[in-house]
Amino acid sequence: MFSLKGKRALVVGVANDQSIAWGCARALRAQGAEIAVTYLNEKAEPYVRPLAEELEAPIFAPLDVSSAVQLDALFEQIREQWGSLDILIHSIAFCPKDDLHGRVIDCSAEGFAMAMDISVHSFLRLIKRAEPLMGPGGTILTVSFYGSEKVVSHYNIMGPVKAALESTTRYVAAELGNKGISVHALSPGPLATRAASGIAHFDRMLAKAAEKAPTHALATIDDIGAYAAFLASNEAHNTTGVIHPIDGGYRIIG
Ligand code: NAD
Repeated sequence: MFSLKGKRALVVGVANDQSIAWGCARALRAQGAEIAVTYLNEKAEPYVRPLAEELEAPIFAPLDVSSAVQLDALFEQIREQWGSLDILIHSIAFCPKDDLHGRVIDCSAEGFAMAMDISVHSFLRLIKRAEPLMGPGGTILTVSFYGSEKVVSHYNIMGPVKAALESTTRYVAAELGNKGISVHALSPGPLATRAASGIAHFDRMLAKAAEKAPTHALATIDDIGAYAAFLASNEAHNTTGVIHPIDGGYRIIG
């Protein structure tokens, strides 16, 4: 029904073949988009390289979003090689362990600042550099979680962090609407990934999601990828600023 042929996408957040970013990258590629892939550091590179090869990614570059030098180098490469960018996917989050596992009240200022910087402000840093390369039909996506709205056991400080990410999504959508660029957050139910393994008792969260959701099925990275691919298409051009649940209907059950 829709095609992404001719579109160029930057996908940030592939760590391995369980990453939500990988599900998105694979789905975008299947619809014909060209994909630029980043990896966090030298340790991550051997896990991400074969995935980038599978995508025939013409751009494969290191990116720790705390490095302005790496951010600038990546976008310079995109500008030189592609000249434009149609799709940006931000699928990253980080919080120091002690702050993630403690009460929200006890979160240190340093941990709070770092979680907000890597998980939220990095979205703005990417968008700021992507904006000059994007024209009408551009799509920007990030990934949030229901813990932003409701108190989810053990999600702790990431709840307020995701709330900030969702609000950021709405403000940026308002700012870029007149350029024809849409901005969304995907909000999948819990799924077992490396980032999720840092959350205490995550297995309980998975069991509850499967039990409570009307579909009784957990979200998969393929579900999320298919949704992302549609949002990136021209057919989805008149929707923006939305947080999209991909959770088997979990939210409708009281
Ligand atoms: P993942 O571990 O596969 O991905 C997290 C990514 O963040 C990794 O690729 C990691 O390299 C990257 N990252 C961390 N610090 C970074 C930095 N300084 N610079 C660049 N990249 C950095 O796990 P995932 O579950 O696919 O997480 C992707 C996103 O999805 C996160 O925002 C997460 O909060 C969100 N999310 C996950 C779930 C879930 O249950 N897994 C549910 C809803 C939302």
